[in-house]
Amino acid sequence: MKIAFHKLNNPVDINIKVENIVFVGELSKKSRFAELKGNLKGELDFICDVCSKESQKHLNEPLELKLTNRPLSLEEESNLDIVECLDIIDIEEIINSELNSHKSDYNKCNKCQINDNDELIVV
Ligand SMILES: [Zn+2]
Repeated sequence: MKIAFHKLNNPVDINIKVENIVFVGELSKKSRFAELKGNLKGELDFICDVCSKESQKHLNEPLELKLTNRPLSLEEESNLDIVECLDIIDIEEIINSELNSHKSDYNKCNKCQINDNDELIVV
């Protein structure tokens, strides 16, 4: 799903599936920015940081990003909620990079989490 920045006048409903995650929300124009607001929900595939096995976790969380088609100022660059994009806004790519940042978090599979709990009981 791609939307031209300069054609964005009225809010656009977004409903897109990337991997096993569905994003439902709205893309709208706010003065110098476009705002992508909605919710990510589904099963996120990730690699466990402890045992390196593939696993899945349930994701259900709000997403709110500002998009701009002009170069970011230094101050804006440090703000992770602002994304620089070209005139064509590629929603799938934005959701993809959002999922990747979730995957690069410290993630543990259920099994390793249970092992952790065991240790807590022992201590
Ligand atoms: Zn694990």
